[in-house]
Amino acid sequence: MTTPTSHSDPNGAHAERGSPDTGDPVAAWQAAAKDPHALELYRDTRGRVDLAMAKSRATCLASGRCCQFAAFGHRLYVTGLEAAIVLDAAREAGCEPTLDAVEAARARGSCPFLQGRACGIHAIRPIPCRAFFCDRHAGPEVAHAHETAHGELRGLHDALRVPYAYSEWTDHLSRLVGSTHGDIMES
Ligand code: SF4
Repeated sequence: MTTPTSHSDPNGAHAERGSPDTGDPVAAWQAAAKDPHALELYRDTRGRVDLAMAKSRATCLASGRCCQFAAFGHRLYVTGLEAAIVLDAAREAGCEPTLDAVEAARARGSCPFLQGRACGIHAIRPIPCRAFFCDRHAGPEVAHAHETAHGELRGLHDALRVPYAYSEWTDHLSRLVGSTHGDIMES
């Protein structure tokens, strides 16, 4: 049994909702991701999710299923700001994927950070990855923690006045890594 809301938009809105008046959203996310105060608030939210998961009965079975999107019917959604923050952390850790690796993963329908059945960026993985369990014992607190965190991240976008876009993980990665390499991908 899966917790179906954990890898999907808790508001049921999968389309991008970036403001047309804010310029380049990718550049805005990348700039905001380097804001120390934004990082502190993001890490606070992430820490609350980790705490809630530690208190829950959910157990990660390390099956890798939640990272193989096409094979198991998952769609991982993150905000643009969170994608930029995680990608910066991956870069600092020396494991930023190349654009080719991102596109290859998209073609496979999996996450470019998946290594075998393990997450290659476990310590810095996005919040929706932290609040997803295929363990049938996972209770409603998992979905609640995810929805609460999503609301906080939405509020962070608003507070920082950066465009809000809640999009599929690898779509964001493609744009962000493509931008870094001067080759923004269209989706
Ligand atoms: S970031 Fe890690 S946990 Fe999240 S989908 Fe990718 S491999 Fe899986």
